[in-house]
Amino acid sequence: MGVSVPDAQVKIVGTKLEYSGPLLITHWGISGPAVLKLSSFAARQLAEMKYEFTTSVNWLNRKEEEVRELILQVKKNFPKRTLFRVNEIELPKRLWEYILYKLKIDGEQIIGNLSKDNLNRIVNTLINDQYEVKGKTTFKEEFVTCGGIDLKEVDFKTMESKLVPNLFFAGEVLDVDAITGGFNFQAAWTTGYIAGSEIGKRFSVKH
Ligand SMILES: Cc1cc2nc3c(=O)[nH]c(=O)nc-3n(C[C@H](O)[C@H](O)[C@H](O)COP(=O)(O)OP(=O)(O)OC[C@H]3O[C@@H](n4cnc5c(N)ncnc54)[C@H](O)[C@@H]3O)c2cc1C
Repeated sequence: MGVSVPDAQVKIVGTKLEYSGPLLITHWGISGPAVLKLSSFAARQLAEMKYEFTTSVNWLNRKEEEVRELILQVKKNFPKRTLFRVNEIELPKRLWEYILYKLKIDGEQIIGNLSKDNLNRIVNTLINDQYEVKGKTTFKEEFVTCGGIDLKEVDFKTMESKLVPNLFFAGEVLDVDAITGGFNFQAAWTTGYIAGSEIGKRFSVKH
């Protein structure tokens, strides 16, 4: 918890969906820009999967051969170093220790004694660490809602429904969702302004 990596790649297994960037481990799972953006871009597919899927994390966002070569170089150059002290892998210490613990590999052993099998297991976990996702966070914790009123049914000049006269839409209720950064606020304010202006023009009472 509280550990972050600067550049991880997160994939949804069985799809082409993936995103790279900073990743944060929280008390409930994984978060950070890579995860938030992936869940935003994948929102519809994730809903279809009923939020049950397997995610794969490449902690270093590097290719298998590169990671293997990195470890082999340390093994060659510093054979007496314990696995715990291999800092060339550039992972937060606690995460590296956790990966070894998860693989039941003794971190106190010197890297010179690392078997081929354990080397493969470490490489595989660094580039393809899989976790099951079951469900999503509780209702109202989401930043923005994907889905809503079909944009084809709305006149953008007034935000009036093309199907029901004098019915106006603005903001989150529309099928608009952006990643964070103010775009959702902007969509809400702009469409609210347009709808409000039109309603004011159309229904203002002259005294
Ligand atoms: C935790 C969180 C973080 C976010 N961070 C960002 C961000 O960093 N950048 C960004 O761009 N966007 C962000 N958003 C999204 C952004 O807040 C929303 O997209 C935006 O506020 C939507 O505005 P809205 O007016 O359409 O809806 P809302 O702000 O949800 O307003 C709807 C209003 O209608 C009221 N209401 C509901 N039902 C009824 C009813 N029956 N009768 C009367 N009133 C009713 C509600 O009480 C509410 O006040 C975030 C959202 C959340 C939840």
